[in-house]
Amino acid sequence: MAKILGIIGGGQLGMMLTEAAKKMPEHISQVIVLDPNQNCSASLVGANQIVGDFKDKDAIIELSKQVDIITYEIESGDSDVLKSVENNAEINPSPETLKTIQDKFLQKTFLQNNGIPVPEFIKVESIDEVKEGLKKYGYPALLKARRDAYDGKGNFKIDSENEIQKAYDYFKGQKLMLEKFVPFKMEVSVIASRNTKGQIKTYPLVENIHEKNILRETIAPARTSSEVSKKAEKIANNTMDVLKGAGVFGIEMFVTQDDQIVINEIAPRVHNSGHHTLQSSKTSQFEQHLRAILGLELGSTELIHNTIMYNILGNLGFEGEYKKIEFLQNNVFLKMYEKKISKPLRKLGHFNLVGNDNQTIDQLLDELSQIKDKMTVKSI
Ligand code: AMP
Repeated sequence: MAKILGIIGGGQLGMMLTEAAKKMPEHISQVIVLDPNQNCSASLVGANQIVGDFKDKDAIIELSKQVDIITYEIESGDSDVLKSVENNAEINPSPETLKTIQDKFLQKTFLQNNGIPVPEFIKVESIDEVKEGLKKYGYPALLKARRDAYDGKGNFKIDSENEIQKAYDYFKGQKLMLEKFVPFKMEVSVIASRNTKGQIKTYPLVENIHEKNILRETIAPARTSSEVSKKAEKIANNTMDVLKGAGVFGIEMFVTQDDQIVINEIAPRVHNSGHHTLQSSKTSQFEQHLRAILGLELGSTELIHNTIMYNILGNLGFEGEYKKIEFLQNNVFLKMYEKKISKPLRKLGHFNLVGNDNQTIDQLLDELSQIKDKMTVKSI
C-alpha cells in the first residue's frame, strides 16, 4: 500500500524529493513537510506543510502521527526527539546514524575507527587545547564547529598565531574541533545510497568547485584518473557498509597532491553535488533516496551524459524580490526553487548543462562560460 512520507525541511531538497515522490504514486500517496517558512519550496509543488521549526518537539511528534515514514533534507534535526517517535513512524536514515553524522567530531571518529581516511583532527575544549593542537598541525589549520554548520559557516581557517583568539571567539562557546589543513588538488564527492535491505549503489565521482565556501559548480564526471575515481568510489562503498543508515548520502572528499582520498564530511541526505543526476542519469538522487528508504531495488547510477551543474546564487549586496530567470536552450535544464526573496549567496536555483554524446567536459566548460552570466539575479 502507498505510504505517506514526512520530510523534515521543505527547502529545495524537500521540493525535489516531493517532485520525485509525485512520480511514484503506487509507493507514496502524500508528502507532508515540516518547515518554519510558510509557502516553503516543497509546499509549492504539492507537499502539505506543518509550519514549525525543525527542532520543535511537538511539531515533530505531530508529523510522526500523520505519516508512515520520516526522512529529512537537513541534518540539524534533534536525533533524540526523532528516536522518541520511532513507534509512530519509520525513520530513515535512522536517528542513530543521524546522531553520529551531525556531530563532525563523532563522525570523523567513527570513520577513523573504521579505517576510513580522514584529515587529522582533535577535539578542543579550551583555547589552550587549540594552541596545543596548532603546535602539532602547524598553520594553517581549521577550527570547526562540531554541529549545525553548513556552507562553510562553521569553519575558521587559522593562518597564524595572531588569529587564535579571534577564531576561538568567533564560535562563542560552541563545541569545537581542530583539523589539519589538507592542501588538496581537487574537491570531489560521491552520492551513495543504501536501501533498508542493505543494497548499496554509488554514483560516479564528481568534481566540486566552491566560491566563498559555497558550492558553485559540479562537474560530472570528475576530471580525475580512473584510478582516483575508483579509489574514491571504493571508499564511499566502504563508508556505506559501516554507516548502516538507509537513504542517499553525500560524501565530500579531498583529492590530495599525491592522489590520496580523504573524506571531508558526510551529509545524511540528498546533496547539492547530486543535482546533476536529474538529467545525467536514469535515476535521480531524489528518486534513489525514496527507493532506498522504501526498501525498493535501487535504480541505475550510470552516468549517461557528461553534465555540469551550476548553482544560481543571490548576488552579494542585494536582498529583495528579483526578476524571474528564464533561459531557453535545449541542453540547459533550469530549476528555480521559487524563493520569493534573494539574499547574498542564497541558493535560488540551479541549471544542468547536459552534454551530447561526444561533448567533452572542456567543451561543456566553454559553453558554460558563455551562458552563466545570462542567468544572474536582478532586482525587480
Ligand atoms: P566544511 O564546511 O567542513 O565542508 O568545509 C567547507 C570548505 O572548507 C570545504 O569545502 C573545503 O574547501 C574547506 N575545508 C574544510 N576542511 C578542510 C581541511 N581540513 N583542509 C583544507 N580545506 C578544508
